[in-house]
Formats: sequence, C-alpha cells, structure tokens
Amino acid sequence: MEIKFIGTGSGITSLKRFHSSILINNYTLIDCGDSTTRALLSGSTGINAIGNIVITHFHPDHYSGLTSLIVNMYLTGRSEKLIIYVHQNMIPFTIQLFKHSYLLSIQSKLGIEIKGYDAGEEIILSDDLKIIPYRNSHIINNNDLEDSDIYYSFSLLLKTAEKSVAYTSDIGCPEDLLLFKEIPLDLLISEATHVNIDGILSEVAKFSTGNIILTHIDENSEDELDKKLAALDSELNIIKAFDGLVIRI
Ligand SMILES: [Zn+2]
Ligand SMILES: [Zn+2]
Repeated sequence: MEIKFIGTGSGITSLKRFHSSILINNYTLIDCGDSTTRALLSGSTGINAIGNIVITHFHPDHYSGLTSLIVNMYLTGRSEKLIIYVHQNMIPFTIQLFKHSYLLSIQSKLGIEIKGYDAGEEIILSDDLKIIPYRNSHIINNNDLEDSDIYYSFSLLLKTAEKSVAYTSDIGCPEDLLLFKEIPLDLLISEATHVNIDGILSEVAKFSTGNIILTHIDENSEDELDKKLAALDSELNIIKAFDGLVIRI
C-alpha cells in the first residue's frame, strides 16, 4: 500500500501545511480540505488519476476543497469516472452542494457518482483496497447532539490483501483509538490536534502496532509536539507527517 500525505495541517489555515488529505495507491483520496487541488499540484500529483474520494466528516478542513477539485478535473479534460463516498446521511447535502456550486452539468458529463456509506460496512474501492468506516466521537463531543442525523464522523480501516492501516481522521478523545484495538495493524495514522501525544501513547500501548504516523498537525502546538517527540523514551516508531510524505508498506 502506498500512502501519500497531501495535506497534514489542522483546521487552522497555515502557510506550512495544507488541510487534511491523504492519497492511497495514487487512486483513492481520503478527505479533501480547503485548497486540496493546490496541495495535489504542489506534490506533483495528477488530479485526474484519482478515482475515488472518501469524506470522513464535513468539517471544512476535510471537505471544502471538493467542489473546486471537481471543477479543476473538468477544466483539465478529465474523462474518467469518479465516485465520491460520504456518510449516507450526507448524500442530500452533497447533492445540494453540487447543485448550488453549479456542478450538476459537470457531474453529469464526468459521470460522477455520490455513494453513501455507513459504520461497519465495507467500501470496495478497487481490486486491492477496501475501507471500513468506524464512527468516532469527534462531532458528537463537539456538538453534544448525539441524536442528530448529520453529526457523524468516521475513522477508517484501510485494507489491502496483505496490509491493514488505521486512519483516525479527526477523533473526539484518545479512547477513540480503541476502535481498532482488536485489529492487527501494520500502521496507525493518528491525528494530533484533538488528542495529544500522551493520549495517543497511553491508548496505543493497548494494541499491536508500533508504527505510528502523526498528522493533522496544529502549528500552534507543533513546537510542543516536537519537544515531546524528541524526549520520548519509547520503542515505538513514530513519524510526524509532512505534506508530500510518501509511505510504502
Ligand atoms: Zn480536522
Ligand atoms: Zn473535524
């Protein structure tokens, strides 16, 4: 599995890092925050190689680059099909977003499909990649609206025939990491804004992988994170992601 970190910043717009987005096997884009098109271009990543886009939740740093990316795909002569996966409750919003961004004719010309997913249901993205969404507490904690139809946020298990990778996206508390505790992982990609390194390490010790990549880095707390990582006395293999980082496992 090849994982390219397109944007590794937090919700705060920064000159150091783009907003959240990672690209799997040069084909599946997970999250598409503000300026993701520019982030892809900065990393010399062709936007028209992307065949799937999965949105973990609808905070702007995870989805607000979507319409711009589609326009740019159209303007650069895309002809391949594109599938966009959102939580099933967000399909009506996504349709309206396309409509009010004047994208319906582009959607039709490019054959863009909007598909819904739900917790625990496999999404088959290609012959060699499937994803299983796990609902986490990120939006629930922030909004205290557990019963709402739209306040959903997901961490993802990414699986190829041989490898399993957990991507937290945004989580609500360190305990959300335990969504993956029964799964043998080759790599954990954890956000580092809504949970700090101490919280991550306290929970990660309860499950298997020693390979951790930190992303969703908040520039206001990055110096503190660097100090903690430098002082860490741990056998874990922890990497702080940067825009353009490519990992092959
Ligand atoms: Zn975020
Ligand atoms: Zn969020």
